[in-house]
Amino acid sequence: MFIRRFVLYLLLLILPMAVLGQNAIPSITANGAADQAKDAPKLEHFDPNLADPALNACDDFYKYSCNKWLAANPIPHDEVYWSTGSGLELWNETVLRETMEAASAKDAKRGAVQQKIGDYWAACMDESGIEAAGLKPLQPELDRIAALKSKKELTLEIAHLHHLFPGAWEQRDNQTNSPFFGFTGQQDYDDASKVVAQLDQGGLSLPNRDYYIKTDDKSVETLNKFRAHVQKMLVLTGEAEAQAGADSGTVVELETALAKAQMDNVARRDPKNINNKMSLAQVRALAPSIEWDVYLKAVKAPASSHYIVTSPDFFRAEEKLLAGHPLEQWKAYMRWHLIAQAAAYLTKAMVDENFDFYYHTLAGQEQIEPRWRRCVHNADRDLGEALGQAYVDRAFPPESKARTLEMVHAIERAMHDDVESVSWMTPATKEQAFVKLKGIEDKIGYPSHWRDYSSVKITRESYLGNVEQASAFELERWVTKIGKPVDRGEWTMTPATINAYYDPQLNTINFPAGILQPPFFEKGMDDSVNYGAIGMVIGHELTHGFDDQGRKFDAHGNLRDWWTAEDAKQYDERGKCISDEYTQEVPDAGAGVKQNGLLTQGEDTADNGGLRLALMALTNKFQAENKSVDTKEADGWTPRQKFFLSYANSWCQQYRPELMRTVVLTNPHSIPKYRVNNVVSNMPEFQEAFSCKKGAPMVRANQCRVW
Ligand SMILES: [Zn+2]
Repeated sequence: MFIRRFVLYLLLLILPMAVLGQNAIPSITANGAADQAKDAPKLEHFDPNLADPALNACDDFYKYSCNKWLAANPIPHDEVYWSTGSGLELWNETVLRETMEAASAKDAKRGAVQQKIGDYWAACMDESGIEAAGLKPLQPELDRIAALKSKKELTLEIAHLHHLFPGAWEQRDNQTNSPFFGFTGQQDYDDASKVVAQLDQGGLSLPNRDYYIKTDDKSVETLNKFRAHVQKMLVLTGEAEAQAGADSGTVVELETALAKAQMDNVARRDPKNINNKMSLAQVRALAPSIEWDVYLKAVKAPASSHYIVTSPDFFRAEEKLLAGHPLEQWKAYMRWHLIAQAAAYLTKAMVDENFDFYYHTLAGQEQIEPRWRRCVHNADRDLGEALGQAYVDRAFPPESKARTLEMVHAIERAMHDDVESVSWMTPATKEQAFVKLKGIEDKIGYPSHWRDYSSVKITRESYLGNVEQASAFELERWVTKIGKPVDRGEWTMTPATINAYYDPQLNTINFPAGILQPPFFEKGMDDSVNYGAIGMVIGHELTHGFDDQGRKFDAHGNLRDWWTAEDAKQYDERGKCISDEYTQEVPDAGAGVKQNGLLTQGEDTADNGGLRLALMALTNKFQAENKSVDTKEADGWTPRQKFFLSYANSWCQQYRPELMRTVVLTNPHSIPKYRVNNVVSNMPEFQEAFSCKKGAPMVRANQCRVW
């Protein structure tokens, strides 16, 4: 699905979570030395005095707003980025940890949900038990691959592997993260009331195709390090050095060939490019080396009216590779993928080597996170809605929900006014836009019904086994949707997540309880502060419904063109202004690293629209109360100034250079400095608030505006 992720969410790396706005911060009950190294979670609260009076807001607003905070908050050794939201991340994780610890106590009175989260926790935290078991939990899977005798047997093994991979059902911006390809059930692009089968490109173990294809020194170096990492991992699981060397070469060769056949991430942003419908007969003909009837039966897929094949060229290339390379090479490929998937749940040697490549080399992390945090991240991924119930009880009171909903409605009204007032849209297209806006469903905090995990078997015996159980459950949960009516109540983020999303096929905006906390939202804060931080997030998600991608879907979530040709042309001109503006050098990410504004256009449009809509809603509220956003308050700041400061402050964030490079090259979001400076320099409202003069860096000569 085209899930639009709002905050940085990096493949294989980070799963942020969050906390609550009560005064009481949970205490950390430290079990080990590593845990004690962590400071108790401290929530950041907005303070206008974080602005640096020695600097000029009109020169570099991000620096003006964040300099003091960034200088006082260096990145901890076990982190790859650190932001004003990081305290919240730790706070949220601590709530989840305490929930699981209580459920894992031997004498705890436990219902079915507590049994699962308690035993998951106990198995994950049992480092000595995991060490003693060694490779035993993985051995049956290695044996299965070793026993394959013909290519004919590959299909069943592919289906089996897809069950073991967390996220194997999930189409992300570039690909599905599972061996060979991805398979899932998802809403049909042309008729969103139906769920159909989808086949997606996949099969890589680096973040995207560029990592295999680019020939600059840094890219070549990274690919060489990857090859060495594959070899080390194979040796750790018992292969002889020379054999592991040859196998790692095979892995790089096969993945490079798959990468070359993948559609690139800019092309994938246009849903028309991936909406390729095929019959089952056509799928069989596309890649006959895979026995599709066997595969579909093995993943329990119901019959589908048709199959969406996101990238037929990818499957054509995979077919050639399957036919052209011997079984032994595919066995090496599968062994590697299996090991890479399982490493984080096995012995210290496996965990450390996995960390060294995926976290240290690719993201610059110096030290691994304490075990408890890794356990919390994975439990949230695997049993998120079981944990989410406790999180909501503790961290998300009904008043928070009510106040958020009030802001959402105010910002939706601002969007209505905005559409009404723009001069470049014809009345016919405006009418359609109003229908879409009215059709957006607001989801706040948590789902109306909780996922039933009763069929997921969780024990204290095997951490890897628990992860695989949960992964198989998720794959089948998605696949068995095929042919059934759409469940509109479902969420694709867990309640404790610090993030938000717009879902174009459900036409919903979703704000998990995890982000409705300080410094993004605070019950007791001024409107100017809340609208600048969470108000912008709300406006951002709403704008996604009308960005260059979202505008192609209608109120019912169907991919349908409701624009007149002239309005579409007008839109594209404004969109191009944004994508040109954000196609820029990013010196902090390394010499020559350039942002592709075509990749980030949707997110940048949402940032610009989001902040403007939030300010419109705030101004409307002040007007209704007969107040002005430009009247100085007791603290010496006007509400409008505090609105912008609160926005910038919620984005103060520093990255390790390795992560910055990975983000700029792969992520559809701009880095925070540009999320702040490019947006405010497009806004006359900002220049008024801080009396910036024409020609100042924060006053762009050619200001872009879509919404
Ligand atoms: Zn977004």
